[in-house]
Amino acid sequence: SKVPFITLNNGVRIPQLGFGVWQVPDEEAAAAVGTALEAGYRSIDTAAIYENEKGTGQAIAASGISRDELFITTKLWNSEQGHDATLRAFDASLDRLGLDYVDLYLIHWPTPARDLYVDTWKAFEKIHADGRAKAIGVSNFHPAHIERLLAETSVVPVIDQIELHPQLQQSQARAFNAAHDIATEAWSPLGQGKGLLDSPVLAAIGHKHGKTPAQVVLRWHLQIGNVVIPKSVTPSRIKENIDVFDFELDAEDLAAIAALDSGQRLGPDPDTFEVA
Ligand code: NAD
Repeated sequence: SKVPFITLNNGVRIPQLGFGVWQVPDEEAAAAVGTALEAGYRSIDTAAIYENEKGTGQAIAASGISRDELFITTKLWNSEQGHDATLRAFDASLDRLGLDYVDLYLIHWPTPARDLYVDTWKAFEKIHADGRAKAIGVSNFHPAHIERLLAETSVVPVIDQIELHPQLQQSQARAFNAAHDIATEAWSPLGQGKGLLDSPVLAAIGHKHGKTPAQVVLRWHLQIGNVVIPKSVTPSRIKENIDVFDFELDAEDLAAIAALDSGQRLGPDPDTFEVA
């Protein structure tokens, strides 16, 4: 496949474009992930809270693709934070996936009021040292949360997976991550397919290149250096979303997209999101 890799700060390589499975029911996950693997995706982003690690694992097993060609990410849910609970939750995720390691394990949210993410990270360091997660990272961490990990623990997260799309471009977080050699991964890269994809700006750029608004947005992520994990359960869109390696946005296109930033989140603010 034509998907390039990003080399993470520990030398592990992640495909720059992968497939997200949030809100895909477990019974549909095997089919969706199977379609994605057939279309050329090799990176899959799931999470314990998505309750589709089983279906995801079934698709992986059925694909016949060798394990070292795949990049599988899962995440620790908030209620399982804390050292021992993390170790147990990780075992359960591996078991549901039917794998003996994941490529990337993420703390799903910092939940700072509970103040458990430093202890949680120390458990992540053990999982990593055991080779059961080839890389460990965080999700929804603000720079201040990452600063604490840098000050109080040993392993630098390889990635911060955050809400990021043309309406929430996250320049500060991206700059902070880049300065610490932490990759930035965009969740809801298409703005969840809501208003964003109706933008006339994106339609015009797409028209110019013979591409859809979704393809324009994904191309923008790739060109500014983000790792990106669009989701779809529709086979034609699954294929469309990986067909973004045969065109290039020019400076004028990039400037027009830069102007779409409104700073508005679709999801919760990580500083206050405490759902267990
Ligand atoms: P997304 O931005 O990928 O949008 C997906 C939606 O956009 C689809 O459901 C569909 O309605 C629409 N869509 C997809 N392809 C399209 C196309 N080609 N044309 C038109 N419409 C299209 O949203 P997402 O699922 O929220 O985010 C992607 C992935 O990011 C998730 O599946 C999950 O893996 C991850 N994620 C992580 C977190 C986190 O807290 N870490 C939170 C949300 C999502």
